[in-house]
Amino acid sequence: MNKYIPYGHQSIDEYDIKAVVDVLKSDWLTTGPSVENFEKKVSKFCGCKYAVSVSSGTAALHTAMYAIGISDGDEVIVPSITFAASANSVVFQGGIPIFCDVEEDTLLIDCDLIENLITNKTRAIIAVDYAGQPCDYDRLREIASKHNLILIADACHSLGASYYGKRVGSNLADITVFSFHPVKNITTGEGGMVVTNSKEYYERSVVFRNHCVDVDYKQRMKKGDWFYDITDLGYNYRMTDMQCALGISQISKLPNWLLDRHAIANIYDMYFKDMCLINPLKVNPGIFHAYHLYVVKFCDQKVRDRMFSYLRNCRIGVNVHYIPVHLHSFYKNRFKTHEGLCSISESVYHRILSLPIFPSMTICDVNRVIDLIDHNMKTLQ
Ligand SMILES: *Cc1c(COP(=O)(O)O)cnc(C)c1O
Repeated sequence: MNKYIPYGHQSIDEYDIKAVVDVLKSDWLTTGPSVENFEKKVSKFCGCKYAVSVSSGTAALHTAMYAIGISDGDEVIVPSITFAASANSVVFQGGIPIFCDVEEDTLLIDCDLIENLITNKTRAIIAVDYAGQPCDYDRLREIASKHNLILIADACHSLGASYYGKRVGSNLADITVFSFHPVKNITTGEGGMVVTNSKEYYERSVVFRNHCVDVDYKQRMKKGDWFYDITDLGYNYRMTDMQCALGISQISKLPNWLLDRHAIANIYDMYFKDMCLINPLKVNPGIFHAYHLYVVKFCDQKVRDRMFSYLRNCRIGVNVHYIPVHLHSFYKNRFKTHEGLCSISESVYHRILSLPIFPSMTICDVNRVIDLIDHNMKTLQ
């Protein structure tokens, strides 16, 4: 039987394993030197001042919402095609996600629709770099500053991407968040990072991930060494040193992995170039794509569904990213969202498919996927 090809997969080598084992033999399993080193590596890689490691991408989004002070009744604009965690993070802090439709050809937030959604309760925009393509940050910045909104980048797909030469995580947004889940561009098992140039957001993030414990040394001096104060409701969102050691080892390989992802995307692009029933997503000018996902769009749902079943039967782990968030029961019940709210998202969701792409995928694997697609399309006529 042919081997199963998933849509994404981590790459772990002997150096990664040694890095983790070394930490296990050391004195620090958490809040130790590897945590600080990983944060330094990520901030250097992104070109930003501060990085705060947390236990997942979801925790990073939640931390960002806390850092910017989202609270009861605040509205935050979120694209409707994303992983639910982007919107959930707003709800964690008592806020209301306001769903914005996406552009048909890129599946990125449609900037033309944002201003219509702004009210006197709107506080922020969460832009999602869908599939690894950075959003139109010039446009987003312009809208955000015109309406005094904070711009958050959910860059869980786009670590290593750039926008007109500027790395994602530099200063394209006020806060950028990453995920290190195994399918993402680098992994720590579970893990995430909040990056920013704002000292205030940085300091609020650092306390939030550690129960909002205030360890102000002046207070300690006055009241005794044991004293600390819980200043607000915080969480345990800390990352372990084992995870951070893996992250340090992984990020050194990211530039080459991005080239591997590009090589695979190029082969797919060449194949789909002359097809009319299947099209890859559009890549905007000025973009260095991180290709977390390679997404194609079909002419209609019937052809997509047929292809999905066929490829799954042939042991190709294709997937659909994502079910529009506003169509989930939780959002329908709690926020009264409904079909028709974001019509492009709803129609495009029935026509998209994520094809396998990951650094250790061989040319032979790519060709197998293409041959199967070709075969399935030929049986259409
Ligand atoms: C993966 C992902 C998250 C959540 O990250 P976790 O590390 O799985 O919690 C959030 N947003 C997007 C767009 C993602 O792809």
